[in-house]
Amino acid sequence: MTESWAGQTPAVVLRGVAKSYDGRRDAITAMTLEVGQGEFAVLLGPSGSGKSTILRAIAGIERIDTGSIEIFGRQVAGPRLHVAPEDRGVSMVFQDYALWPHMTVLDNVAFALKRAKLGSHERKEKAAEMLSRVGLGGKEIRYPAELSGGEQQRVALARALVGHCGLVLFDEPLSNLDADLRERLRLEIATLTRESNASVIYITHDQAEAFALADKIGVLSAGRLVQMGTPEEIYQQPVDSFIARFTGLAGEFSGRVRARLASDLVEVEVPAASAVLHARAVGPLRSGDTVSLAMRPFALGICDADERSIEARVLDVAYRGRGYEHALSIGGSVISSVFCAERHPRGSRVFVSVDPAGCLAFSRGEELAMTATPDSSVDGADDDVIAFDLTEYAL
Ligand code: ADP
Repeated sequence: MTESWAGQTPAVVLRGVAKSYDGRRDAITAMTLEVGQGEFAVLLGPSGSGKSTILRAIAGIERIDTGSIEIFGRQVAGPRLHVAPEDRGVSMVFQDYALWPHMTVLDNVAFALKRAKLGSHERKEKAAEMLSRVGLGGKEIRYPAELSGGEQQRVALARALVGHCGLVLFDEPLSNLDADLRERLRLEIATLTRESNASVIYITHDQAEAFALADKIGVLSAGRLVQMGTPEEIYQQPVDSFIARFTGLAGEFSGRVRARLASDLVEVEVPAASAVLHARAVGPLRSGDTVSLAMRPFALGICDADERSIEARVLDVAYRGRGYEHALSIGGSVISSVFCAERHPRGSRVFVSVDPAGCLAFSRGEELAMTATPDSSVDGADDDVIAFDLTEYAL
């Protein structure tokens, strides 16, 4: 998909953007990123990682301290330059909908067209058409307070897209909705923004949402962009253990590299599992290095015993439609999300196969360096580092 964007002016370019609220600690640091026209980019990170700050800086709600921001080739923020939000040609969808309470739904949407050279009748016609596209036909003369949360967010979506605005910013728009509605609205956001050919920057702390929506994901930690890539790149080639953990592991082991087998394949001794496993090396690794072995759920299966399988005991098993999800104990560590078509009862002994493609070896030295970084102490930066399993979408 990236090819079709090549050669076009990007929708948004940030170069070396930094912003501090208290003059001491940067909320975002040296932020450089590019979003192509028509691209759906998701910025994903735990709470406090700087997502809202970036979005507000692009919208013009926050002034940046250093660096520059361009929108469709026009500089809107930079040294001694701050274009006002209303002059940036950007629309935004907020978590709390931000509708005008005293205006009808129709007027809320038509209001977004006030700068268009259209008569009042034409504005209302376009607004009504957009409302019917988001499934709110017939509710035009209601007030926001007379709508459910999901309906209000649809109005906000209609308002953001009605002006055929080039760039739409989404600030965690689904956070206030319940799970079922979130899923439906997520699909609508995905289809409607693409039909409108909008360029999108969408922020969220929810990994599932990011993977479901994005053409490109940028993962943030403590005010820095750690990795930007397609969902496949982020999941299959995380650049460090933070990204691997944040995007979903079944479990982890400590180990020691016994040998380097190929450019990115290492043999690792894992005493806790009484096993020697093959793993993908992330970064340079040498024999004798201590590593964390991070295992993606897809890499694990329950198999017959063989020389590479690991013995495990079943702690828990749950039926998940497409199969059974097992939580296992291996040498005292808990490994979750091990899928199998067959049910293995609690307490039974099983053997686990590990596919090296989803078994990632990170140097422990690199991790210790990361935890020693002053930025990692940013408030709440690690709050949301939780196990997350993309396999739930294969149910
Ligand atoms: P996220 O959206 O990822 O939760 P934010 O951009 O809101 O992150 O916050 C990044 C950092 O900036 C955090 O440490 C947060 O406490 C701080 N911060 C955000 N807004 C303000 C503000 N208005 N005043 C002071 N500090 C702020």
